[in-house]
Amino acid sequence: TIGMVAVDSNGDVAAGTSTNGAKYKIPGRVGDSPIPGAGAYADNEVGGAAATGDGDIMLRFLPSFLAVEEMRRGASPTDAAQTAVKRIAARYPDFMGAVIALTKTGQYGAACHGIPTFPFVVQDKTRNMFEVITIKC
Ligand code: ASP
Repeated sequence: TIGMVAVDSNGDVAAGTSTNGAKYKIPGRVGDSPIPGAGAYADNEVGGAAATGDGDIMLRFLPSFLAVEEMRRGASPTDAAQTAVKRIAARYPDFMGAVIALTKTGQYGAACHGIPTFPFVVQDKTRNMFEVITIKC
């Protein structure tokens, strides 16, 4: 899955995903990516989040929605993403996945589980091009 979260110069927030789904998926499988709150979520008052990984597990927990709600209560994007990932890992310790999160003020973070590292890309006014940030899971 490619997940994206963006804030434009008007402060409007958007989030979305593009995916080829899971390996060996059965015909008709929808997965988490197109489900609002699971694959991605955006709220103009707070920011947005997007998720990738074992979608059949992750969509039960609406991790993108949870990350945005955590940021609404004041959590940093990193802490918000960690809360969303830990919520899943508590029930499914073997799941693989990651969540990225962005506030409408431009703070960002990510968390991951079940893989060694997770790379994500950041682009903003302070960067000439883009930066690849890799976190440990
Ligand atoms: N979450 C996607 C799915 O389960 C797969 C992925 O993130 O690569 O459909």
